[in-house]
Amino acid sequence: MNESQAKIRVEKLREEIEKHRYAYYVLDIPEISDEAYDSLVHELEKLEAKFPELADPNSPTRRVGAKPLEKFQSAKHSRPMLSLNDAFDKKDVEAWVQRISKFLPKSYKPKYHVQLKLDGLACAIIYENGIFQKALTRGDGKVGEDVSQNVRTIRSIPLKLRRSSKAPKEAYTSRVEVRGEIVIYKRDFEKINKEREEQGQTLFMNPRNTAAGTIRQLDPKLVASRPLRFYAWGLEIDGASIEKHSEEYELAKELGFVVSTQTTVAYNVDEVMKFVKTWEQKRHDLPFNTDGLVIAINNRKIYDDLGSVGKAPRGALAYKYPPEQQTTKVKDIFVSIGRTGAATPVAMLEPVIIAGSRVEMATLHNESEVKRKDVRIGDTVIVHKAGDIIPEIVESIKSLRDGSEKIFHMPKKCPDCSTELIKPADEAVWRCPNRNCPARVQNHIRHFASKSAIDIEGLGEKNVTVLLESGLIKDEADLYSLKEEDVSKLERFAELSAKNLVNAINAKKNPSLERFIFALGIRHVGVQTAIDLAKKFGSLESLTRSSIQQLEEVDGVGGKVAESIAAWFADDENQKLLNKFEKAGVKPQKYAIVSGKLEGKSFVVTGTLETMGREKAAELIRKMGGKFISSVSKDTTYLVVGDNPGESKRQAAKKHGIKIINEDEFIGLLKS
Ligand code: ZN
Repeated sequence: MNESQAKIRVEKLREEIEKHRYAYYVLDIPEISDEAYDSLVHELEKLEAKFPELADPNSPTRRVGAKPLEKFQSAKHSRPMLSLNDAFDKKDVEAWVQRISKFLPKSYKPKYHVQLKLDGLACAIIYENGIFQKALTRGDGKVGEDVSQNVRTIRSIPLKLRRSSKAPKEAYTSRVEVRGEIVIYKRDFEKINKEREEQGQTLFMNPRNTAAGTIRQLDPKLVASRPLRFYAWGLEIDGASIEKHSEEYELAKELGFVVSTQTTVAYNVDEVMKFVKTWEQKRHDLPFNTDGLVIAINNRKIYDDLGSVGKAPRGALAYKYPPEQQTTKVKDIFVSIGRTGAATPVAMLEPVIIAGSRVEMATLHNESEVKRKDVRIGDTVIVHKAGDIIPEIVESIKSLRDGSEKIFHMPKKCPDCSTELIKPADEAVWRCPNRNCPARVQNHIRHFASKSAIDIEGLGEKNVTVLLESGLIKDEADLYSLKEEDVSKLERFAELSAKNLVNAINAKKNPSLERFIFALGIRHVGVQTAIDLAKKFGSLESLTRSSIQQLEEVDGVGGKVAESIAAWFADDENQKLLNKFEKAGVKPQKYAIVSGKLEGKSFVVTGTLETMGREKAAELIRKMGGKFISSVSKDTTYLVVGDNPGESKRQAAKKHGIKIINEDEFIGLLKS
């Protein structure tokens, strides 16, 4: 290859590499594998080495190159990177709208651009004539640090702005400043920490400070080895005007940047709050951490005219979600007995509000977890709660101890029935072996009546306790012989609620076989296993008679599960319970597949479906012989995407090449 041939090849390679970078990072639809991409870069490297005159400082091969720095230089921002005023609820947002209305032109109705705020490190990147020049950290807002050589290593940032007919020509002929957030994905963060743990290094606190710490490393090689990503949220093109904030996003994407897709334009506060609510839970499914939203007047001219008060612009507001971690004190640690007898240590806390709800208790899982975290009675602890998950103690703050703290010891006896607790050598959990233990019976009945089991309304903790204490019931089968006149005499039950409860129970005399199997509360038998068992055996009678060998033939049933099932049915007490059900007229329906056309296919649903709830979708899928599963793996057949889907599931589906369908297509599959 001579030089002119090489020149053509080099240019083509650079274009090709940039095209794939864009497809991978910005569009999120990789066209070639990582290996193929690396091999293109490798070929380019070889050619550039052979023909040094073809070198270009902004070639994709030159992301890392410079030597470690002695220290960072400071540099002034062209216009300050302001911080925003905070809002914590709807009232704050309304007050802000009220405040700025005085400054707005009469009869002007503002629209609001709302976006999720990524929890990372803010950074400004400057391009001249379309070429990467410089990157600055926020610093104090006026002066930042020049971290250009580190930022260049981030592959989601273009070294040359992408050519696009939709971008104004000034983007390639004058100065462009892109502002955004440098982040590390949660899964990448976990991976880094796992490696550090294996190598005996200290662990990083969270993705944000890992990103911040990385960008301040003096050696760009180390920076290049960490999976940093950049999400653009602001764009300024000298000489060209961009009318709306929402357009900044579109343009930044055209120029080759990744932008967050979790944005909307709202016409009033109610719409803003709707978006806030939508993402309060769902943001946990995103690959990165978020700490709130930014609400800004969408029209940039009006926004600029509003000016700023102090350090904050008038035209924007940071909405903060309630914190998910708080510190509080452990008042006591007690043991709670579950339906299988498992003894779980639970911390009683000084009440705190976390993620919008009051938290008074947090699980400590088991004895060794208490030891590992060294949580003591009287300790100040960090408690975490996100969405619907059970509050959990992250760690105790040992430096705040004053010597009065008490170490927790697992009791020898069950707190509810005084039977001695036992722990098989291969298990982490202590158990109460007494099947008549009041705590176990209570939890058993609640499990039986729960939504995924028989689904009987009106059997919450307190009602079950009252029924048990009155002696009207001893087990779940007794529920079916409850009489309205007896129940109505009990405390908590008026005539009407007694009638409702008895009716609710009797309406569930013929549950589906899979629900009934799950409701029995056999150890290791979850919802899916119950379905698989129902499918294989068809009726309760044939399941009762099944051998361990037959059980092991069922999908997902291993030796341990098969033994547990067989032992349950071989037990005299359980046989008595089943007889009691039969006498009471409880007869589960035979398993019937409506149609087997989804046989062998598995579905994951993400987001909200318009025409049906999740439970309903799951039921329909199962009725047609398909499987409803909660997370995407390489064996998943379809990902059904509803409204406001989870980003991580979508990415996993793309990675495994799984078919992604929308609700209409899903319904089509059910009907076809
Ligand atoms: Zn007990």
